[in-house]
Amino acid sequence: MVLDKFNKDNIKSYFERFYHFFLNLIYNQKCVICSCAKTDDILCKNCLKDVDYLSSFAQRVYKNIPIFCAASYNKTVKKLIQLLKFSHKKICAKALAKVLFEYYQKLDIKNESYIVTFPPSYFTKSAQRGYKHMFLIAKEFSKLANLEYNLEFKGDLIIKTKPTKPQYKVRNRHKNIKDSFKINKKYINELTDKKILIIDDITTSGATIEEIINCFLDDGIKNLTCLIIAKAGC
Ligand SMILES: [Zn+2]
Repeated sequence: MVLDKFNKDNIKSYFERFYHFFLNLIYNQKCVICSCAKTDDILCKNCLKDVDYLSSFAQRVYKNIPIFCAASYNKTVKKLIQLLKFSHKKICAKALAKVLFEYYQKLDIKNESYIVTFPPSYFTKSAQRGYKHMFLIAKEFSKLANLEYNLEFKGDLIIKTKPTKPQYKVRNRHKNIKDSFKINKKYINELTDKKILIIDDITTSGATIEEIINCFLDDGIKNLTCLIIAKAGC
């Protein structure tokens, strides 16, 4: 059984490398950050090394809910997030999901069963962009993590109810984001005894993630864990 899994994983890994080799040959694949061609993946080894992982403890606790942050918001992570959000480089969602997964594997909480979700953008913003960037990251992360752990992805668990200004543009971030999310009522009854893993891209003041936590707590859903890709200002 173990040997079977080992062989399957090995075969899969060979196929993936073979696939990337051909992609590289056909499309001249380059690292999305530094554009060097010495890569068979989204990031080259050097850029991958630049990801500054944080400790595997909760960086913050808000109302008893642990908030884990995978990495510091340095040049590499910032560029990946910006390329995904503003330059339509959807492939960066895969790289960011890998960063999250790399970190998640080091956490004590990894063996729990979770429902994975994320705070969405307002629909007009997603429509402008053509996709929800957090949807792509959270879905990709769930896919990766599900190979080893037990996660269920729910893309419509949190609803954005009104547009808000980008958090980096406002002084009072808590006021800006207040009452702009709600939990999808169709899931509330089935969630009270489930563990929820909330994924987000950046935290600075913590206003967004606190607002999301409050929405869940107000609906009586208390078993929450937050996992954020990047912590700004550290
Ligand atoms: Zn690179």
